[in-house]
Amino acid sequence: MSPSACILIHYHEISLKGDNRGWFEKVFKQNVRKQIKPLPFSSVETNAARVFIFGMDASRWDEYAIELKKVMGLMNAHLMHQVEPEMDAMKSTAAELIATKEFETFRVSTKRQYKNFPFTSQEVNREIGAHLQPLCNKRVKLKGADVDVVIELVKGKAYIGVDKIRGYGGLPVGTGERAVSLISSGIDSPVSSFEMIKRGVSLSYVHFHSAPATSRQSIKNVERLLKVIAGYQIRCDLYNIPLLAIQEKIMETAPSKFWVILFRRAMMRMAEQIADQIDAAALITGENVGQVASQTLSNMRATADAVERPILRPLAGLNKEDIINRAREIGTYEISIEPYEDCCSFFVPIHPETRANLEEVRGIEASIDMTGLYETAMENIEKSTIEGK
Ligand code: ATP
Ligand code: MG
Repeated sequence: MSPSACILIHYHEISLKGDNRGWFEKVFKQNVRKQIKPLPFSSVETNAARVFIFGMDASRWDEYAIELKKVMGLMNAHLMHQVEPEMDAMKSTAAELIATKEFETFRVSTKRQYKNFPFTSQEVNREIGAHLQPLCNKRVKLKGADVDVVIELVKGKAYIGVDKIRGYGGLPVGTGERAVSLISSGIDSPVSSFEMIKRGVSLSYVHFHSAPATSRQSIKNVERLLKVIAGYQIRCDLYNIPLLAIQEKIMETAPSKFWVILFRRAMMRMAEQIADQIDAAALITGENVGQVASQTLSNMRATADAVERPILRPLAGLNKEDIINRAREIGTYEISIEPYEDCCSFFVPIHPETRANLEEVRGIEASIDMTGLYETAMENIEKSTIEGK
């Protein structure tokens, strides 16, 4: 283990938060510590708007990189080597570092927080670049270089590194409030959940199933998806709620074109009851305008009318291709495309309503005798806690 190795992290919008900044940094550092817990480190500290991980094992950088990428609020992280802020020491460390890389083009990028250092950032770039160039005999390229030798001069020390990862940015999980995410085992809702976690919101999840009319496969798939998503928020709670009896009652009484909307109103109501229990301020769905017949603006209005809380739909305006790319990037896509019987798709009528009239929906719903059905469903919730992987 190299005693001088450390990780230097730049965080994202935390620096914009004025008076709250100290608290945001504290939560961010806690999240970093939790995430890298299986790996060696001695401390995680803030210094000059940067977060440092000291006492780490540079030979395991790839493992730190995988874990740190999952910490929301992280803009980028560098594996750094600490040296005295003297040109000669910096030159020799930079030369050692690039000798470990295969590349055609390189550049040097210096940031100088430590203003007492006698050279400007530009001067450091030039001097170190001029030293490295004859040693490696490669071209300097300012845009899109294969290797970027990053130098940061912070409070009397110089940090040099050539390994870097980009994070997702956003805000640390736990700095936002709480919300309940409605999760199916499809492609969209895991992505919409991720987008909210990225904004610092702590999520709990509800999943509705129609067992025994459908298999319990959707529950298994959701659990696997949440293992991946919980990786971004350490752990989360999942509430599996039986919907079958309510669906059967609706199908018995209401015209088939209203089934989906009425199912969805029932789902929202029960999600809101969970939100009441855990003091969550909003509901999240993966709905996307126009993606399927049930996801028109009128239908969203008719669904939202069933609850008092705001329903956030982070994917509302995205194209499917973008959602799929995101699902691939965050690691949920392969699980989402596995076959399953969804509680709604299983009972979808051939001609669902695409422009629900709110008054009509309310009237039909009021005519259905739901006595005891919500209570029974809520009493039969199966709750579990899922740890991120
Ligand atoms: P997804 O890919 O997330 O399944 P979808 O395109 O299949 O979305 P719908 O099935 O119409 O869309 O569902 C829209 C949204 O309603 C989902 O993104 C999710 O938030 C919620 N939802 C749908 N089915 C369920 C379910 N069984 N349990 C919980 N929420 C659900
Ligand atoms: Mg679905």
